[in-house]
Amino acid sequence: MKSPAVFIESFGCQMNKLDTALVGRALEEAGFRPAARLTEADVVLINTCSVRQHAEDRVLSHLGHLKHVKAQRPNLIVGVIGCMAQRLGDQLLEHEAVNLVCGPAQIPQLAELIRQTLAHQDKQAAVTEKIRQPVSRADDSLDRFELAYGAGDGQIPGQAFVRVMRGCNYFCTYCVVPYVRGPEACRSPEAILEQVRKLAQKGVRQVTLLGQTVNSYQYRSGAKTTCLADLLEATAQVGGIEWVRFVTSYPADEFYAEILQAMAASPKICRYLHMPAQSGSDRILQAMNRHYTAAHYLELIEKARAVLPDIAVAGDQVLAPPGYDRRQAPGRHDSG
Ligand code: SF4
Repeated sequence: MKSPAVFIESFGCQMNKLDTALVGRALEEAGFRPAARLTEADVVLINTCSVRQHAEDRVLSHLGHLKHVKAQRPNLIVGVIGCMAQRLGDQLLEHEAVNLVCGPAQIPQLAELIRQTLAHQDKQAAVTEKIRQPVSRADDSLDRFELAYGAGDGQIPGQAFVRVMRGCNYFCTYCVVPYVRGPEACRSPEAILEQVRKLAQKGVRQVTLLGQTVNSYQYRSGAKTTCLADLLEATAQVGGIEWVRFVTSYPADEFYAEILQAMAASPKICRYLHMPAQSGSDRILQAMNRHYTAAHYLELIEKARAVLPDIAVAGDQVLAPPGYDRRQAPGRHDSG
């Protein structure tokens, strides 16, 4: 008998795409076949995003479509994974099309959940009960999962994304990340560097260190604290790695000078800062619960240019469309 074929669709940000790639490789190793399209699949997984209302609406409309597909193919298993799975949990499981719901922290269990759903044709759910509870360092299942299935980015040869932290401790009013990915939890530098070395051995030359507020990366072990600047330097020293990048930075002073110095000291650390301002209006920034002013953001850019005159700066901005009603609350958009 042929092994079940899995079709995965990604509806989200870079973190979401990274999870999709990890899940795809893990399921292949667990004996599932990748399906190139829905029509060839026994199992369809939708990796969801909650950051934009629009992204959730797209998923719900897609589930509506899958409900009709399932009317013709009742054995098709539909799984919802990612942020929306964590946010809506049982509510999603009640959807007629959905067989399986799995939160971002439970992806290492996904192969087993699919097997159980296929065997019993019933509904399965695995999400984190108390999402704001600090993650215990003793639970390294996500770390091991990342280490085992991290690989080069399928789209751009020679490059890979490496997650250095999960969750977020900021509570920007428009963003759902703190509620679906939990509090900030940093991976140990040892685990990160082991993954980078493994990737370099597989031919990866450019590594992008990934975190929702990557500049606040901080790992304490005994008397030693490793910050993002240390991590950038150590990553740049891994044999075979030619370029190191990091996204996304929050406009904060924390470790800022150290990070700029690390960039100046190593030609391998790309002179690129992805630091979303979100708005140029202090009133809107305050409404967004962003902890800086427009002037402070510009000051940070000036500081960066003083150390690295050729630095490139990128980020999201909310641009008011013509006719925008200023009394409206700010809408949802990208995190960072
Ligand atoms: S927008 Fe970024 S900093 Fe703000 S809560 Fe979301 S992930 Fe955290």
